[in-house]
Amino acid sequence: MNTIRIGCGYDVHRLVSGRALILGGVKIPHPYGLLGHSDADVITHALCDAILGAAALGDLGRHFPDSDSRYAGISSIKLLEEVIQKIASSGWKLGNADITLVAQSPKIAPFVTEMEKNVSDACKVSVDQINIKATTTEGLGFTGTSEGMAAYAVVTIAPVRS
Ligand code: MG
Repeated sequence: MNTIRIGCGYDVHRLVSGRALILGGVKIPHPYGLLGHSDADVITHALCDAILGAAALGDLGRHFPDSDSRYAGISSIKLLEEVIQKIASSGWKLGNADITLVAQSPKIAPFVTEMEKNVSDACKVSVDQINIKATTTEGLGFTGTSEGMAAYAVVTIAPVRS
């Protein structure tokens, strides 16, 4: 099985008042934050699901159920570190990741460098193996009305010994 594999991940969280907005492990000044059992970091959740999918290890909910109080309010970057350990136990390492945030606001460009650093540190890869970008939906749909945010991630993984 000496080959590269691909995984994709998708996640959505609702935007509410009274929650911090955490994206890629960065706290971003914004009047609304994402609602969820953990810190609801939609970028990191999509990435975790893509990595688990590439390794045929299921999904985030299977490994970190939201019925488990240990994960209440947890930093999703910590979950990402655990996901990387899980694929390493199966003989895989992250190749690269390309993540797209879908959000009407705020502009994340000023925070992308720090997000990519957080994510690459958690994945134990070089920062040039991680790309985070964003798009709006031109006001259309639940992301366009700022009811929520979505994120897509695509990754490759490679055997540790290659
Ligand atoms: Mg999620």
